[in-house]
Amino acid sequence: MSAKFDLTQLPNQPLWFEASQPRERLEKTEQADVVIIGAGYTGLWTAYYLLKSDPSLRVVLLEKHQVGFGASGRNGGWASAIFPISLDRVAQMYSHQAALNLQGAMNDTVDEIGRVLSLEGVEADYAKQGFLSLARSAPQLERVRATVEASTRFGLPDQWQALDGQQASARLGAQGALGGLYTEHCALIHPGKLVRGLAKLVEKMGAKIYERSAVTEHAPGVVKTAHGLVRAEFTVRATEAFTSQQPGYSRFVIPLYSLVLATEPLPRDLLAKLNLDHRLAFNDMRHLRV
Ligand SMILES: Cc1cc2nc3c(=O)[nH]c(=O)nc-3n(C[C@H](O)[C@H](O)[C@H](O)COP(=O)(O)OP(=O)(O)OC[C@H]3O[C@@H](n4cnc5c(N)ncnc54)[C@H](O)[C@@H]3O)c2cc1C
Repeated sequence: MSAKFDLTQLPNQPLWFEASQPRERLEKTEQADVVIIGAGYTGLWTAYYLLKSDPSLRVVLLEKHQVGFGASGRNGGWASAIFPISLDRVAQMYSHQAALNLQGAMNDTVDEIGRVLSLEGVEADYAKQGFLSLARSAPQLERVRATVEASTRFGLPDQWQALDGQQASARLGAQGALGGLYTEHCALIHPGKLVRGLAKLVEKMGAKIYERSAVTEHAPGVVKTAHGLVRAEFTVRATEAFTSQQPGYSRFVIPLYSLVLATEPLPRDLLAKLNLDHRLAFNDMRHLRV
């Protein structure tokens, strides 16, 4: 491993991080129509669609650290329509139609991200080449079959596709593939470029982003930081895992964890040899716990 990419020597910051001039801190009273707490994907996409629907809106974002400090600047870069619970379970909780709508909306969102990035000229290395989960044992192969069957039974025969060993190996150079589960509804993005690009885009559209401006309390109509406040008719809390740190929200969500490991960049000839010179998202069907 070259000294440049010695993982043990990396500073404690996300792989996708890029140093930039910090934005202004909120040190006054601001008037807005909408104040958004948190400048990750949720806050920034909210600002984008608000300003797209009404460019005259005054939108202010308050970010405790810097744009993309949270999971939006640290994730694995899969823009996928894969939901961590089954559609059968969603249907039990809501309705069959609601589950179909949810899956449809997630599929559409993968394309919508690509559409907006290309429309607005945001470069975030978006590439939609799908997702493949390899089966390398008989139980994993059984899970491939069960997933496709369940999805077909539910009314979505095209959501997942079962591949045999040869078809799976043709897409990915892993050893011992007996088959695979493929969906077209997944793209890869560069998380850092996406979150920073979105921030610049919404600023260009008129939003104001304050960094180093932690919200200390919010009530209808007013959101406070240590050095200033924003009065606004609407407040959007876009703090995902950090929500539980806010007064009154400690039992609102339970933050768990998700981990990402990166290799050093692989040389092109090795990528070609491993059949990895594409932008397909992939894993295998092992249950991994660390
Ligand atoms: C390691 C990892 C890998 C992941 N991989 C994927 C993946 O491949 N695909 C996928 O779809 N999802 C993935 N996720 C999940 C996904 O990244 C998150 O669900 C998503 O980024 C959440 O965006 P957000 O804007 O809601 O929250 P965040 O990005 O966490 O943004 C919230 C922001 O609020 C700010 N904040 C917190 N408290 C305050 C306060 N009091 N005042 C002001 N600001 C505050 C934080 O600093 C933060 O910037 C992954 C997550 C992790 C951790």
